[in-house]
Amino acid sequence: MNPRDLSAHTAYRAGRGIEEVARELGLDPEAMVKLSSNENMFGPSPLAVEAIRESAERIHHYPKASHADLLEALADRWNTTPEQVWLGNGGDGALDCLARAMLSPEDEVLVPTPGFAYYQMSARYHHGEVNEYTLSKADDFAQTADTVLKDYDGERIVYLTSPHNPTGKEFTTDAVRDIADRTDPETLVLVDEAYGEFTETPSTKPLVEERDDVALLRTFSKAYGLAGVRLGYALVPEEWADAYARINTPFSASELACRAGLAALDDDDHVTRSVETAAWAREYIYEELDAPTWESAGNFVLAEVGDAAAVADATQAQGVIVRDCSSFGLPECIRITCGTKADTKQAVSVLNESIVEVER
Ligand SMILES: *Cc1c(COP(=O)(O)O)cnc(C)c1O
Repeated sequence: MNPRDLSAHTAYRAGRGIEEVARELGLDPEAMVKLSSNENMFGPSPLAVEAIRESAERIHHYPKASHADLLEALADRWNTTPEQVWLGNGGDGALDCLARAMLSPEDEVLVPTPGFAYYQMSARYHHGEVNEYTLSKADDFAQTADTVLKDYDGERIVYLTSPHNPTGKEFTTDAVRDIADRTDPETLVLVDEAYGEFTETPSTKPLVEERDDVALLRTFSKAYGLAGVRLGYALVPEEWADAYARINTPFSASELACRAGLAALDDDDHVTRSVETAAWAREYIYEELDAPTWESAGNFVLAEVGDAAAVADATQAQGVIVRDCSSFGLPECIRITCGTKADTKQAVSVLNESIVEVER
């Protein structure tokens, strides 16, 4: 026997971890600077670490109370009902929930290119078909209503990323409203705000209240520093929020994840410090990197370095890991995650040497 036809599916290839790279190059993992996965430069909130330690003794129980408590806390924060919060195993898990709730076989979705690879993977897992809209480099990857609508053809889900990974560009709330107005009433406009904490642009959350065809995605992986526990959620309109109960994996967010999330939500200092340091690092990279960059609203900066694979290899040999954007269809660009001040300075210095070396 065989699995179903998976020939249109692509395997997810995560960036390589520090241990893996260090072992291969014979470097000390402690001395490496990993700025390739948009992780939090300060690690997790210490309160979240403590919460995980404390809940370790109780993990023989299903996470019933912690799940409910986290829904309550998030609903409180966003001024929604708990039913409107769809928790998932990472933001990726919440994307799966939305695809499962929305897609019938052969429904189409519209995703950005360049863009976050998981949208199309998730849609395909759920028997959907994938079309693309293009963010144009010539246009500095601008995200407007027309960017999306010129390629829209009645798709069931339209994925918007704001701030966008890997370019750092944003949609205004007015642009999202315009897109929702000009698409079919049965089209879900899904705004991925995985980097929403890092921007001063307000969230598009008011649209989730205003109308029934806009949902948001948020995650604890970036500003909250909890990528390893896998915790994210969608905020969905009240009108169809009850669908979650019928499509959700039982207890999709673990006890440890829920407890860590609850603690992290209370640690405003950790988030503020992360956001402020990211803002500092963006400016530092724009000014000090010897390569053109795009202004970013996330905790990363896209830079044009010529041969991205060669530059990324050269910096890696010096203990600095950045993201080669070839897999995003941008083989001339790298994406640099905002690090601590020390890590960012070291990365820029090593990058500047590597850029010269590769050009030579
Ligand atoms: C990181 C990221 C996510 C969510 O990642 P999870 O770790 O699954 O929460 C979603 N969208 C974009 C654009 C991202 O970069």
